[in-house]
Amino acid sequence: MNIILFGPPGAGKGTQAKILEKEYGFKQLSTGDMLRAEVSGQTELGKKMKVIMDQGNLVPDEIVIEMIRTYVESDDCEKGAIFDGFPRTVAQADALSSMLKECGKAIECVIELQVEDDALVGRIEKRAEEEGRDDDTVDAFKVRLGLYRDYSADVLPYYKAKGLHSLLDGDQSVEDVSKALRLLVS
Ligand code: ADP
Repeated sequence: MNIILFGPPGAGKGTQAKILEKEYGFKQLSTGDMLRAEVSGQTELGKKMKVIMDQGNLVPDEIVIEMIRTYVESDDCEKGAIFDGFPRTVAQADALSSMLKECGKAIECVIELQVEDDALVGRIEKRAEEEGRDDDTVDAFKVRLGLYRDYSADVLPYYKAKGLHSLLDGDQSVEDVSKALRLLVS
């Protein structure tokens, strides 16, 4: 099954994607993780993207689209994929749809994890202490959340129109969110 986990920064997409990956064998494809790997590997691309990411802004569509393409076509995604943090624009959504189509696949389910802003701030503060991500600062988080509000208003209607969207309350324990997710994907 090919699933998109959609939600604001701190909604728990990565946590839930890892659980689904373990239980169902779908491959987690996180563009944020892929970009952070470029940054920590100090590649030319990583050096350029770090500036954008640290401010909380979106990196150019073509960069993330090409990153995702490599994986979509690989055997790792045979059982399916969980797209985590991608697509964030309609251009990315269109590109994803065509690259999946070329492999005879399609997105089957778009799950929006909904969490109130106050709860998100608390989670990001905790993650900043635990993981020390350079974009988990107050300023970058504000930018990321503001951008989320903007791009979700474009991307969610795109999938709602295709009848693929489900809403899930992300403001519950990790276990309860997983339980609800299992019902949607099995
Ligand atoms: P979060 O969802 O917590 O904001 P991610 O790990 O998904 O974090 O993304 C971190 C950063 O990586 C984003 O703020 C952005 O700069 C960049 N990024 C990740 N995915 C995309 C994407 N699909 N399009 C554009 N930029 C992206």
